[in-house]
Amino acid sequence: MKCYYLWTIGCQMNDADSRQMAEGLESLGYAATRRPEEADVIVLNTCVVRQSAEDKVYGRLSSLKPIKQKRPEAILALMGCAVEEDTSSLQQRFPYVDLFVRPSDTESLIDFIASHNGTADHWQPASSFQCPVSCYVPVMYGCDHLCTYCIVRLRRGRQRSKRPAEIVDEVQCLVERRTREVTLLGQNVDAYGHDLPDQPTLAVLLEAVHEIDGLWRLRFLTSHPADMANELIEAVADLPKVCEYLEIPIQSGDDKILKRMLRRYTIAQYRELVAKIRERIPKVALATDVIVGFPGETEKQFMNTCDLLREIRFDVVHVAAYSPRPGTAACRLPDDVPPQEKERRRKAVEELQKQIAGEINALLLRQAVEVLVEERHKGKWRGRTRTNKLVFFEDERDWRGKLARVQITWTGPWSMQGSPV
Ligand code: SF4
Repeated sequence: MKCYYLWTIGCQMNDADSRQMAEGLESLGYAATRRPEEADVIVLNTCVVRQSAEDKVYGRLSSLKPIKQKRPEAILALMGCAVEEDTSSLQQRFPYVDLFVRPSDTESLIDFIASHNGTADHWQPASSFQCPVSCYVPVMYGCDHLCTYCIVRLRRGRQRSKRPAEIVDEVQCLVERRTREVTLLGQNVDAYGHDLPDQPTLAVLLEAVHEIDGLWRLRFLTSHPADMANELIEAVADLPKVCEYLEIPIQSGDDKILKRMLRRYTIAQYRELVAKIRERIPKVALATDVIVGFPGETEKQFMNTCDLLREIRFDVVHVAAYSPRPGTAACRLPDDVPPQEKERRRKAVEELQKQIAGEINALLLRQAVEVLVEERHKGKWRGRTRTNKLVFFEDERDWRGKLARVQITWTGPWSMQGSPV
């Protein structure tokens, strides 16, 4: 049997694209393998959001060269944000790569493989493909913001939303194959529909997807603080399937840095937004992203970020050290925070958040929570609460794709454990 090997790093959008790719390849008769040396198709789905991710991609690609030399008939494809519109420099650097595929263009990749094999031009989803219990569904690609540090918008282009009917069909199809939770994805999902002729909003889309029988939970990410409309907050509050969990990147706790990042909101506006959300959705869990060591960030400005994290007390903080990305506006600013200092700030935020998240999660001790169980891992069932808390429990029964009431017996900053009641 022909095999494919798929390697994915980066954001949830890449995870969604890889799932779609796996489905397409399986519909063409390929089976998944964990061993690239035996694969007939090798795809690296890449991320270059930070230098560390880019280094991993090129390291992985170089390690595949001997495999490709040994088996030149295997197809090697590079996909995702590492692939610019003009691929000439990539072609020169990696002549052994057969195909360069722009981010999210899974259809081109599948078409290429289908025509290479002499099979149908267009693939049909494999009905046997087992969809995850919780699935990401891209609803739009690209972004119209101009955040100065961001390479994603350069690689993924202007915002392009899918039509609501297409998304509803896609979710319906997933639900028929036992998906119970979907997360609607966009680089800036709050701006969903602004580019479509009748400008449907994300709130309208949530209402439409909410109608699907057999779908139990609905989420969306990633939000932009300047685009989160009241109508959307109302939809989260009113639609029972929409989970009380929002990811709203703050990036910095200092107005001057936010201005330099061209984020288009102030700390005061962000505070106001959080207050509004918490008033309307009292049990909401909030996640955010933070970049430390942005050009010119002083110790005082960094402390402003820490103070804001202490004040808002997010459930989750994804923190990254700034790294200049080629072609971005911030890349022209002096990268003047030394690497060791960036790392110190990154670790300080991690430590602070570890403490805050530990305290927030400890409030769930001895409480019974609803967990949508996704899979069994190392003998333990693993799932998430509506507020996206990761819960593990042991039980002999088959819980995959079911809702379990779990009494929490242990909590930590990143996960918790319990037993079904
Ligand atoms: S909102 Fe800003 S950071 Fe997010 S994808 Fe768009 S430009 Fe990049």
